[in-house]
Amino acid sequence: AKKEGKSQYCFFQENMLIEHQRKIDIANAIEPGLERGEFYICYQPKVSSDAEPRGVEALVRWNSHSLGRVAPSDFIPIAERSGKISALTDWVVERVCRDVADYFQDLPVPILVSLNLSAYDLKRYQFSDFIRSTFETHSVRPELIEFEVTEHAYLDNLEMANRFFNDISELGCRVALDDFGTGYSSLSYLTRIPIDLIKIDKQFVENIGLTARDDALVLTIIEMAKRLGIELCAEGVETEAQRDFLKIHGCNLMQGYLFDRPQELEQLKAIFATTISE
Ligand code: C2E
Ligand code: CA
Ligand code: CA
Ligand code: CA
Repeated sequence: AKKEGKSQYCFFQENMLIEHQRKIDIANAIEPGLERGEFYICYQPKVSSDAEPRGVEALVRWNSHSLGRVAPSDFIPIAERSGKISALTDWVVERVCRDVADYFQDLPVPILVSLNLSAYDLKRYQFSDFIRSTFETHSVRPELIEFEVTEHAYLDNLEMANRFFNDISELGCRVALDDFGTGYSSLSYLTRIPIDLIKIDKQFVENIGLTARDDALVLTIIEMAKRLGIELCAEGVETEAQRDFLKIHGCNLMQGYLFDRPQELEQLKAIFATTISE
């Protein structure tokens, strides 16, 4: 039994080494990948409870020459820890601004475009200056842009985060709180930062209909947002039962596979050509 324990330990250690090496490989492939154009953006619609498009969320994708497809849940945390996230975020901001200028901004109905930011981005000096100048370069209307941040990103460095939010709301952009309910327990920040929208994390949406308590939790978040005067969007809506529950209880912005998967811009244009009319 002792021998077996030892070989299991070695096996465990070997796996850790392989995993560690993969993280290093990913970190080292990000910058060359940006230069070689391996990254692209998919857009997932946010719709009203009647499935009318109201906005889109930009989600980064990576098809690496050396590593193949890498999921954002794998490379974003590595980019954050290895200091590569600023280059990646800047690329996303620039890419999305071009798409807004070339397409979204000219649609006959207002379509909000959201971008995800990392905790690290909020701590960067002059990041809001970069955003402002990228808007200017592409003549992007700031009111159409929304930044999705997690409560973790906000609480990580209050002073820098507050400065960023001030700059961003002065510019006229919107702020959305992502993954709501999954992080810290303190809710006091909800009254201190200019939050326009709260996204109910998909883990809560997934549990709708399971137990009375799961439902009560979602109802409480809906009620809270109403009382605070903050818009609400449910993410990860996959079933009609989830949609109906959310709709009945007054959450009228939703996102999920039930409506659309994240799409490359060309496919999204085809979808919007049939769902958006003047
Ligand atoms: P997130 O911001 O919470 O994004 C939602 C994730 O849920 C996306 O995964 C989306 O594809 C997925 N999703 C959408 N609808 C459904 C559904 O109905 N069911 C299920 N099961 N999943 C759904 P994705 O694209 O793999 O992104 C994962 C995370 O990576 C994002 O979570 C976000 O934290 C991060 N991320 C993605 N793009 C960027 C980016 O450009 N910058 C930064 N900093 N982070 C990003
Ligand atoms: Ca234009
Ligand atoms: Ca998000
Ligand atoms: Ca989320």
